Amino acid sequence: MTGQERGEGVDTPLYRSEAELRSEIAGAKKIVVKFGSSSLTRSSGGVDRVRMDRYVEALEARMAAGSDVVVVSSGAIATGRKPLKMVTRPKDLATKQAAAAVGQVQLASNWSDSFERFERTVALILLTAGDTGDRDRARNAQRTIDRLRQLRVIPIINENDTVATSEMRFGDNDRLAALVAHLIGADALVLLSDVDGLFDRNPSDPGARFLSEVRSGKDLEGVLAGDGGPLGTGGMAAKVSAARLAARGGVPVLLTSADNIAPALAGDDVGTVFHPRPDKRLSAWKFWALYAADAEGVLRIDPGAMRAVTRGGTSLLPVGITGIDGEFHRGDIVEVIGPNGEAIGRGEVGYDADVLAGMIGRNTADLPVEQRRAVIHADYLSNYASRV
Ligand code: GLU
Repeated sequence: MTGQERGEGVDTPLYRSEAELRSEIAGAKKIVVKFGSSSLTRSSGGVDRVRMDRYVEALEARMAAGSDVVVVSSGAIATGRKPLKMVTRPKDLATKQAAAAVGQVQLASNWSDSFERFERTVALILLTAGDTGDRDRARNAQRTIDRLRQLRVIPIINENDTVATSEMRFGDNDRLAALVAHLIGADALVLLSDVDGLFDRNPSDPGARFLSEVRSGKDLEGVLAGDGGPLGTGGMAAKVSAARLAARGGVPVLLTSADNIAPALAGDDVGTVFHPRPDKRLSAWKFWALYAADAEGVLRIDPGAMRAVTRGGTSLLPVGITGIDGEFHRGDIVEVIGPNGEAIGRGEVGYDADVLAGMIGRNTADLPVEQRRAVIHADYLSNYASRV
């Protein structure tokens, strides 16, 4: 598509053109590049060093051109199969975790050797989505990654499979890559796997249509995204959801195959690009609250409060609350649920659950003076609908 075009809806802002977005990704200073298991390992298990070397050459070219690169690398489980003499991917969780622990050593050491050809040093970082959801741990991770970049070291990030299993069940690190891209304020995220980009159905079906850009959910209507391949756990559904997550956080995304890495990093016309929302980049706090934080409880609200919250800019008061769940405390993140059970948003709650229980449905004027603060202040309330 050329020129600036209108997105969906009445007050929807102008999106950049596809060409502009691609050139922005090509020029991104801080770039997260995620590799899927099937791109890094052989079908029989073990690292595919020939392919990894080619990827590293493309990354090196990008770094020589002035970009900082952060690698998110899957493939620990698949790599671990070889030394453990496992012919197929392990099925039970403990064995997958064991294979990942074995494989991670070899995976990281191959990355290290491959980058050493260019006298580059790598660092291994094992993270969980939960780490990005805890503000202190997220800040620590961000500081470490920033410092490594200053030291010209390439961070290699994988999920910490010993303690977390979300990416090995659904994601193959796609979601983790999106969270990391947002966490470090990346200018672009490149998701590389074994498919050229997004098709509206299985690419081997005759008549499958290729989507070169996705601006909003509207472009995805009728798109059937499958659930994974034999090696990893990604699947197109996980990739699309991760790409949209990063795009919501303001990070442009390019989704293509690892074989396309060189043209992808050079800004050529390959793969599918996902536009970030152009108007209102969610603040780091709001993105964190909605997509990364652990919610400690639930507030149910009535239709009037729901309208106010959805509109944005309004604090949530006790009078609009119809029920609460969970043992939350003041300062925790809670999920806000509408009258029909719909997820409306999230916010930082101003009261402990036991105090709030006695305030539900009451007018602020009737409450003791120490309970006249909002339940969630507008500045700490983030809603899924308007994303402001
Ligand atoms: N973190 C896992 C790995 O690196 C995810 C990939 C998978 O599910 O195979 O192996």
